Amino acid sequence: MDHPAQPSSDPSKKTPQILRVALPRPVRQFFDYTFSSADEVMPGQRVRVFFGRQTLVGVIVAVNPPDPPDIKLRPISALLDRSPLFPVSSLTLIDWAARYYQHPPGECFWAALPPPLRQGKAAEMPTETTWTRNAEAVADTLPKRAKRQHDLLRWFAEQPGEHANGTLTAAGFTPQVIRGLAERGFLARHERTLGQATEKSAVLQSLPAPNAAQQSVLDGLPVSCDAFAVHLIHGITGSGKTEVYMHWLRQSLPADGQALVLVPEINLTPQTVARFVRHFGARVALWHSALTDTERLRTWLQVQSGEPVILVSTRSGVLLPFSRLKAVVVDEEHDGAYKQNDGFRYSARDLSLVAARQANCPVLLGSATPSLESLHNVEARDYRLHSLAQRAGKGTLPSLQLVDIRSRPLVGGVSPPLMQAIESTLALGQQVLLFINRRGYAPVLMCYDCGHLLECRNCDTRLTLHRRENRMRCHHCDFQRPVPKRCDKCGGENLNPVGEGTEKTEDVLTQALPDYPIIRIDRDSTRKKGSLDGMLAAIHEGKPCVLVGTQMLTKGHDFPNVTLVGVLNADGGLFSSDFRGPEQLAQTVTQVAGRAGRGEQPGRVLIQTCHADHPLLQQLCQNDYLTLARSLLQEREDALLPPCSAQIALRFESPSMELSIDRLVATRGQLEQWRDQIPDVLLLGPFPAAIARKANRHRAYLILQADNRRALQRAANALTRWLEQCRFSHNERWLIDVDPQEL
Ligand code: ADP
Ligand code: ZN
Repeated sequence: MDHPAQPSSDPSKKTPQILRVALPRPVRQFFDYTFSSADEVMPGQRVRVFFGRQTLVGVIVAVNPPDPPDIKLRPISALLDRSPLFPVSSLTLIDWAARYYQHPPGECFWAALPPPLRQGKAAEMPTETTWTRNAEAVADTLPKRAKRQHDLLRWFAEQPGEHANGTLTAAGFTPQVIRGLAERGFLARHERTLGQATEKSAVLQSLPAPNAAQQSVLDGLPVSCDAFAVHLIHGITGSGKTEVYMHWLRQSLPADGQALVLVPEINLTPQTVARFVRHFGARVALWHSALTDTERLRTWLQVQSGEPVILVSTRSGVLLPFSRLKAVVVDEEHDGAYKQNDGFRYSARDLSLVAARQANCPVLLGSATPSLESLHNVEARDYRLHSLAQRAGKGTLPSLQLVDIRSRPLVGGVSPPLMQAIESTLALGQQVLLFINRRGYAPVLMCYDCGHLLECRNCDTRLTLHRRENRMRCHHCDFQRPVPKRCDKCGGENLNPVGEGTEKTEDVLTQALPDYPIIRIDRDSTRKKGSLDGMLAAIHEGKPCVLVGTQMLTKGHDFPNVTLVGVLNADGGLFSSDFRGPEQLAQTVTQVAGRAGRGEQPGRVLIQTCHADHPLLQQLCQNDYLTLARSLLQEREDALLPPCSAQIALRFESPSMELSIDRLVATRGQLEQWRDQIPDVLLLGPFPAAIARKANRHRAYLILQADNRRALQRAANALTRWLEQCRFSHNERWLIDVDPQEL
């Protein structure tokens, strides 16, 4: 791979020139073409080219590279942009990412483009047609028979102002009616940049004055945005981190500077976004997966043109072409959602740090439960640690208590002490939140006659019973089937659900507490657009109710009337085979506990467990995440595990486990041959993945581990080059995961 080069400054440059292009192909290389026009070409412009029998859209990464190939090149078929779409900063970042994550560079560029630009459409701000009422034209002059046109006039009288064409058609007026009225001189037509007409210049809300703790954090943050530095804010849940980010941007972000604010999932945290919009108004732009292609194009071009936006975004926003990046904020920096887990497996948090280093600007990372990676970097890389140890509003931190559920009768997963606590909380007019880590009714359907468990046809997993839709579903592939009446194995009719999912707890509580609403919040219940908003609105009314939900409930919500949180079962993370299990358990419990007592009433948290004497749970109850995290970090250091070392995972998938392991054994053999060049790289495996068979592919891993990232990177480079040359059959696949989060 080559660095994106500057255009040749040689005035005597001869035609044709050679263009090196990144194309969306799954190979780690660029492709060269010729270009014989007098038009100026630069890296960052798009071209259309023939590739085999296809035409593809690609991005120029170099003009007249120093090492042109010795073969006859084809000419490009079209130059699509007059000037570079990607500024140099963004070419450099994407190039860095492709190398670091060992991913095909053309696919990385692809990931950074909005769909219309991938298709080769013009990089022009999308516009929309709007209409206003022409005041001079009086209604009496409109013929009586034009009934619909009269209707439209009345509609304009009722809602004066400028309206998008789409608004009028949505109100039931056909294009003919609108055009007819315009031709008679009653309406004036405008072409506006998308969104302009609808953005109201709402009154911006000022921020609450920072409290003493917030002020002392602010005092320690960079005053100007012209040097790279990383600040990690450990602020307990409800301590007012969002206000600190906003105050800091207000004070330090230059008027013409761009800021990137990363949030894990926008649809789950509408409140955070709303707060940014209320305070910064039209300067805030949004980037997330629910936008339409046209909205994406608009935001992309806004960022690209250097508009001083504050982009509030999910992970892929880090790939946008910022040219004046002056500040980066990563909220809930520990969140797993920042790592993309298929295709281009980048970490948006880590890439945002690289982007900031390139742009020479500061970064704020914030979390109530900082990742061990970032805590490690406080020492290893000189991040500055700040802390907010008190809740900002009226709330206080809840008390945590373990409930030993050994030999206690559970109903829908709820023990008698938790049930009593739920009842008394509701009786006081307050709300309850129950956290369960599984959706569906029950994670297992078991035959009580022969012990058979219903498994997925395609994966090494059990099927989850979903009673609402009366189906068995695999949560790892698309497989589903009706709920069987008889056991597949022995034919017996004694099939029973085992364990708890959100649906079952919802059912049990609905029966036990008929006077209170039970609101289930998980991926199934919120699939329909707008349904989550509806549920959140109901909760914000504050009436007593029970929320039953998964991970979704742990993220950033502010439910002031929730005073009791129940964690149904904390034991999964204690004995997980994944070394990150304890860290994730500590983060999840601390985050979900943080939903309690955010209003005026103090909160409490009951954690059900069969291991009440486990030191990790004991420590969690001290409500001191940082101390706990530091001891987990010490364990990682002793075991030389990340973040105290670095890992790259190679995964192989094929129709049999034997073949996958064989391939990795051969790969390991190849790496051993390079031993003298990569002396410090430890090889672990091959071993089967935690879910060994998924969607009928048998998956195994080989792990490369080293203290020294350079050595590891060198090994991975050689490895991908070698693997790309190996001829595997079409049903075999490999992928590389740099800094893997799950295996
Ligand atoms: P975090 O993100 O740290 O969990 P938030 O930023 O959501 O916390 O703040 C928690 C609550 O405290 C919010 O309702 C917020 O409006 C309020 N809050 C934050 N800072 C202040 C302040 N300085 N004065 C008054 N209220 C504040
Ligand atoms: Zn499956």
